[in-house]
Amino acid sequence: AKAPGGHGHAVYDEQMRHAAHSRLRLDSALRDGVARRQFHLHYQPVLDLRTGTWHGAEALLRWRHPQLGPVPPGTFIPLAEETRLIVPLGARVLDEAARQLAEWQAEGTVPPPFVLAVNVSSRQLRAGFVDSVAAALDQHGVPGSSLALELTESVLLADSPGIGHTLADLRALGVQLHLDDFGTGYSSLSYLERLPMDVLKIDRSFVADLTTSTEKRALVTAITAMADALGIPVTAEGVETPEQLALLRELGCRYGQGYLFARPDDPRTTGGLLRATPAY
Ligand code: C2E
Ligand code: CA
Ligand code: CA
Ligand code: CA
Repeated sequence: AKAPGGHGHAVYDEQMRHAAHSRLRLDSALRDGVARRQFHLHYQPVLDLRTGTWHGAEALLRWRHPQLGPVPPGTFIPLAEETRLIVPLGARVLDEAARQLAEWQAEGTVPPPFVLAVNVSSRQLRAGFVDSVAAALDQHGVPGSSLALELTESVLLADSPGIGHTLADLRALGVQLHLDDFGTGYSSLSYLERLPMDVLKIDRSFVADLTTSTEKRALVTAITAMADALGIPVTAEGVETPEQLALLRELGCRYGQGYLFARPDDPRTTGGLLRATPAY
């Protein structure tokens, strides 16, 4: 907030200038980084809590800038969305994820029903998106059924008339649609009828407080019961402790993802991990 009085203004303006300046620099660094291919993917496995086997993995984008070092996705993804760089960047993510999936499938590392999930921003969902997904699958010879796209509630609520058709076209490719960060947005359930989802991913913030907050626990209980009634399996993200795991299992949560099982890591580590039996 703006500090009252004369000197406050000067400090505030100075800070604003500084923020705008560094944002501008990050913006051009991002543009440069896309051109210079400074991005790569990490993968985090997802556990099937019923069977105790790996069910899939999520591709998570990483940016290592030669001078700045690793820049967190929480910083560069919103910027890439604002500048629409997310469109070419997201297309590369899809292509690289499909390539990696094909490699693992050829090695026999990820037998069906293994599903690799890729995050998609609402900005990417425009003309040509379905074609680019189809092209990535085709190019690397992977079946649509082994790919999931993680969408957030904002995608579903975006005032875009074509969204229903786009999602139907994606499903026609056999691709799964997962609703990411569930519970953090508008949490309106009415659209689940209109725009069916294959999996609900409960946001990490709910899981984090699961064993300490009765309120969060009640919410997760309600979400899992509701999803169960709709016949939609639930993935809990950010599972870090055995206590959280026990409670999630009790609540009927189908899949789990988090540091307790595996951290996001480079594909060689993940591939090795997926070949081994999970510890949980
Ligand atoms: P997200 O989709 O909700 O991804 C889950 C985030 O939780 C990841 O953060 C992951 O590293 C982190 N995480 C997983 N397990 C745990 C845990 O047990 N504890 C804690 N504290 N964190 C855990 P990350 O990799 O920093 O990504 C942040 C966000 O950036 C993602 O949130 C997603 O919204 C976005 N993002 C990442 N990659 C992509 C991408 O390729 N495309 C788009 N559009 N967005 C991406
Ligand atoms: Ca995600
Ligand atoms: Ca998420
Ligand atoms: Ca999240």
